[in-house]
Amino acid sequence: MSTLRILWTIAPEIAPRPLINCNRCGTVKAYRCSDKFRVNANGKRIDVWLIYRCIDCDNSWNFGIFERRNRRDIESVLLAALESNDPVLARRYAFDIVALRNKVGRVEEFSDVAVHKHWLGDIDETATALEIRLALEMPIALRLDRLLAGELGISRSRLQAMEEKRLLAVAPDGATALRRPARDGTTLRIDLAGELDRPAIISAAGG
Ligand SMILES: [Zn+2]
Repeated sequence: MSTLRILWTIAPEIAPRPLINCNRCGTVKAYRCSDKFRVNANGKRIDVWLIYRCIDCDNSWNFGIFERRNRRDIESVLLAALESNDPVLARRYAFDIVALRNKVGRVEEFSDVAVHKHWLGDIDETATALEIRLALEMPIALRLDRLLAGELGISRSRLQAMEEKRLLAVAPDGATALRRPARDGTTLRIDLAGELDRPAIISAAGG
């Protein structure tokens, strides 16, 4: 049985939004990341914040990245990146949901993801099995079965039935992985030999 292999590189699209008691709106509001840092140097002490803004009134909230840190403890390359609002760095901090939760408690998460699909090896139209490998840029909130349903055009109940018939294998963790957020390194193997819509599924898998 010939197998088509494909790599899905997945990146979350919307950074988590802390829910903050906005003193200007007078109620709890979601704050979105501005992708801008504020670096405050006071003698040898440095504070660095990532700036968030209320989605309704633009009021700002500072997410502490470094607080009262000795200048010597922050590498100059990192400091330069912070001072120039390096977008990769801002993205890394903005998606650090654990750190955000530690600061504010309640955080709104989004399941929107961008999936980049890349065939590994030749595309054999007669292949009867599909192997999908997941590579995640960072953790995402989207459940694996929802990801598959959306990207392959297969209902979640059909995916469930395929798993029960051993036509869909998930490694590691098997069926339980389907109901959890998709994780880096997961491999899915789908036996399409008996599926009438095989060409459509293969086409969807490749984007
Ligand atoms: Zn507000």
